[in-house]
Amino acid sequence: MTQDIQGKVIVITGASSGLGEATARHLASHGAIVVLGARRMDRLQKIVDEIQAAGGKALALQTDVTRQADVQALVDKAVSSYGKIDVMLNNAGLMQQSPLEKLKIDEWDNMIDINLKGTLYGIAAVLPQMKSQQFGHVINVSSVAGHKVTPAGTVYCATKHAVRAISEGFRQEVKDYNLRSTIISPGAIDTELPSHITDSESSEAIGGFYASAAIPADSFARIVYFAITQPEDVDINEVLYRPTSQP
Ligand code: NDP
Repeated sequence: MTQDIQGKVIVITGASSGLGEATARHLASHGAIVVLGARRMDRLQKIVDEIQAAGGKALALQTDVTRQADVQALVDKAVSSYGKIDVMLNNAGLMQQSPLEKLKIDEWDNMIDINLKGTLYGIAAVLPQMKSQQFGHVINVSSVAGHKVTPAGTVYCATKHAVRAISEGFRQEVKDYNLRSTIISPGAIDTELPSHITDSESSEAIGGFYASAAIPADSFARIVYFAITQPEDVDINEVLYRPTSQP
């Protein structure tokens, strides 16, 4: 029998747009309490206001996932406000494609800091609380790029491969605490993600591909809902999905 998510406390990083925003709205509409983090507080507040106006429960805290203290503060806020944390969705991410020879080292650093270290900080922030509760679910966002490497996508792909390694290691280490671990690996989804690419050739190529192939962000929200509504003894370890038209 699937679980009801009414009253479940769900923390989402990168909730100000795209997949995080769509998931916050979807889960709140099913009765979950959503605690939202990202850097753009105006965007977060608008989402919170709209969820509350529709009768849902939500709060937001400005969070930069490259700062461990910010991620801890977000989780602490969820626990102090609602007494527990059921799900941590480590979703914040950045994709800046460019060939290695362009030496966009600042962008490599940003992707490593946000995609990889941000995910680890999310785990660090929830693990003590989830251990003491003896329940909890960590969902990390990888990608089709976590399964294969594409030219100009080397560093992004490396971070998304790493997210899968971290998630699987987490799963193996925490099963005795009754914790669940899910990796969601989407293909092209229509969000702001490609807008951060500064290399013009990569931007053109990816922009054209997304314009023709990308599917809506609620596809992701439905998969999160599916994973978290499984019975307590069922752990959906990984979901890999993409637009039907994507090679
Ligand atoms: P968006 O660009 O729309 O959303 C990214 C989110 O991450 C924003 O809310 C942004 O908020 C947040 N973010 C970025 N940097 C930071 C930071 N330092 N601290 C906190 N939050 C941050 O893209 P998506 O919704 O598509 O991306 C969500 C996740 O999905 C990413 O991990 C991405 O890699 C992954 N993904 C997306 C795919 C797609 O095709 N869209 C495919 C596969 C995976 P703010 O700027 O306000 O901080």
